[in-house]
Amino acid sequence: MSVATYAEIRCDGPDECGNATHLPYSSTAAEVRAVRRESGWHARPGGRDICPACWTAGHR
Ligand SMILES: [Zn+2]
Repeated sequence: MSVATYAEIRCDGPDECGNATHLPYSSTAAEVRAVRRESGWHARPGGRDICPACWTAGHR
């Protein structure tokens, strides 16, 4: 039995850009935050995640 536990960070920006990133291993919330920060993702109030492209484009 395999249990695949990973976090997915999906962009909640406008235009349904569909960007998402995955952490292919079991991740703690702190690890997810670290990856998000290092890769340019931003967490917004309300639990939304904004991908680097949307952030750069000013969609926040
Ligand atoms: Zn996006």
